[in-house]
Amino acid sequence: MSDYRVLLYYKYVKIEDPERFRDEHMKLCEDIGLKGRILVSEEGINGTCSGTVKQTDDYMEAVRLDERFKDMFFKIDDVDEHAFKKMYVRYRPEIVSLKLGEEDHDASLVTGKFLDPLEWKEAMEGENTIVLDARNAYEYDLGHFRGAVRPDIQSFRDLPDWIKENKEKFMDKRVLTYCTGGIRCEKLTGWLMKEGFEDVGQLHGGIHHYGTDPETKGEKWDGKMYVFDERISVDINKVDKNIVAKDWYDGKPCERYVNCANPECNRQYITSKENEHKYLRGCSYDCRIHPWNRYVQEHNLSREDVGNRLGAIGEKLPEMV
Ligand SMILES: [Zn+2]
Repeated sequence: MSDYRVLLYYKYVKIEDPERFRDEHMKLCEDIGLKGRILVSEEGINGTCSGTVKQTDDYMEAVRLDERFKDMFFKIDDVDEHAFKKMYVRYRPEIVSLKLGEEDHDASLVTGKFLDPLEWKEAMEGENTIVLDARNAYEYDLGHFRGAVRPDIQSFRDLPDWIKENKEKFMDKRVLTYCTGGIRCEKLTGWLMKEGFEDVGQLHGGIHHYGTDPETKGEKWDGKMYVFDERISVDINKVDKNIVAKDWYDGKPCERYVNCANPECNRQYITSKENEHKYLRGCSYDCRIHPWNRYVQEHNLSREDVGNRLGAIGEKLPEMV
């Protein structure tokens, strides 16, 4: 029995005075002792938080007392400790943004057909069907539904443009979309329908719901699911788990994320401990030799040390001017 839980939830619902709501909600979370990140907007609420079993029970009960949230769907993970260091409740113009401006808010009013995990598992095999991953490329690379399309994007806001550019791949097909907890698809599928896609479905409750479903047991999911807390990734497939992610440097199977040591880059990528040391945690040559490289600072490496490390991988320090 785990002592802590992580909650993942959202709801598109009109919040009249989101900045006042934010202040009140922050007070509620602090009184309970919760940690996590909650976004509040005129269009709804989007949160992920951690706390003890008691704290999360108290929080869910308090949230559902509010008429607007009485049917809130909380996705729950049992964990051993807090998954966040602090508590934030922030106001945002949108709880997730597709960069559609005012239309962002309308997108949540129209939405694609919701498929429960078992329906989804069968629908993925359907004829003339495309499964579209609605997440970012770095999330896809750690794990995804078998055969899903990978949009080459670093931010959800860029997805509409990517779809427009690749429209011919999808236009006459049934399009099924999924994301971590469902919030992105609820908006995206509405936009797809406005764009003229006729048969659009979405995974209800997202990958998280699918992974905890007793019937699907996460089958047909490859790799792990990326999550936006200190755990970084969680298991989904309980039937035939495998690794699909690859080491940035040598392409070997790997599921360990790091951030590039160049603070001006900070790219999140997958690599082993061994290669992290070998390549000074720099995702490129320019990042390895960057004067602010954090790896070099953390390990107190001299210029000579850096030169020797680079030499071992066939690179050289730039000439001093
Ligand atoms: Zn870099």
